[in-house]
Amino acid sequence: MNRCKTKHNPGLGPRLATLLVLALSHTALAEWVGDARPMMGTEVSVYLWSDDPEIGRQALEEVFNEASRIDHLMSTYKDESEISKINRDAADAPVVVSSELFRLIQRSLDISVLTRGAFDITYDSVGQHYDFRAHRRPDTATVEAERGLINYQLVKLDKAAGTISFDRAGVRINLGGIAKGYVVERGIDLLRQRGIENAIVTAGGDSRLLGDRRGRPWMVGIRDPREEGEVTISLPLADEAISTSGDYERYFDEDGIRYHHIIRPSTGAPAEGVHSATVIGPDAVMTDALSTSVFVMGVDDGLTLIGTLPDYESIVIDAAGRVFYSDGLMPPDTAAGE
Ligand code: ADP
Ligand code: MG
Repeated sequence: MNRCKTKHNPGLGPRLATLLVLALSHTALAEWVGDARPMMGTEVSVYLWSDDPEIGRQALEEVFNEASRIDHLMSTYKDESEISKINRDAADAPVVVSSELFRLIQRSLDISVLTRGAFDITYDSVGQHYDFRAHRRPDTATVEAERGLINYQLVKLDKAAGTISFDRAGVRINLGGIAKGYVVERGIDLLRQRGIENAIVTAGGDSRLLGDRRGRPWMVGIRDPREEGEVTISLPLADEAISTSGDYERYFDEDGIRYHHIIRPSTGAPAEGVHSATVIGPDAVMTDALSTSVFVMGVDDGLTLIGTLPDYESIVIDAAGRVFYSDGLMPPDTAAGE
């Protein structure tokens, strides 16, 4: 049968013509494809350029599937997730963890050391008592009773055994401050493997850019923390990650006080002094964790920390609406030569 095919080989001419037609149709069809879906308590969006829109749309689907897989691994809202199992059992006996989750928990603990405890995944022993939709918060007695459990040093990872354990009953971990960065980083990895060269993947306040916007930089906006839909600063970026943590993402106001989702580990209360913290750099896992950290650390300590990390920059908007830039970023008026 194979021979038969060889016999009827149409020859080089028509073959070239077919290739040419294919190439032309591909060029004509190359386009941006994108979609946004509610996931992980926020919105995940993917936007990419593909020479073949069909392949582009498949790649899109793969990124959403990956986000969903990671959510099922790491959500504290899902009883059957690996994180929920750890929170149930790790104070009683070491729990075997998948290598993927082990690595992300290890990175989280490393960032706790780097930020001297401002970033701490054990914030959840207090954090679990908040329900922002229902305007529910822990009372003072609960915060006092639980805040001693916020301490990343109570989490022990055993690399040889591949296990995690907690030193005290009541310790809980939550990867909410790093998981979305991980999702967008993994999403971009997948797209790169599929040969995509221009894309943006966003999960809530975390974005990772692949390449540029075909000859132009991506324009990424930092929103006004108090005016929904208003952009305060627009940044031209390519091949970078950018994360913003704000006190407007999950919150409720009560008697003039804003109760929001970023907890200062030392007090167990929502961190005050900053309205939003943005971090830009090469890795979205880091920018995600660092934006939460800078938010907690405040303008001075936060920007000092960023100053020690050569690849990372930061923009902080404080509670008075003032904008502060890390040393490596020039404020717009300076850049304009004023
Ligand atoms: P967003 O979830 O809006 O992108 P962040 O990246 O700043 O914002 O993450 C905030 C989330 O991080 C909270 O919803 C909570 O799950 C978690 N978190 C809160 N406080 C801390 C903290 N001090 N250290 C680590 N994670 C925290
Ligand atoms: Mg963050």
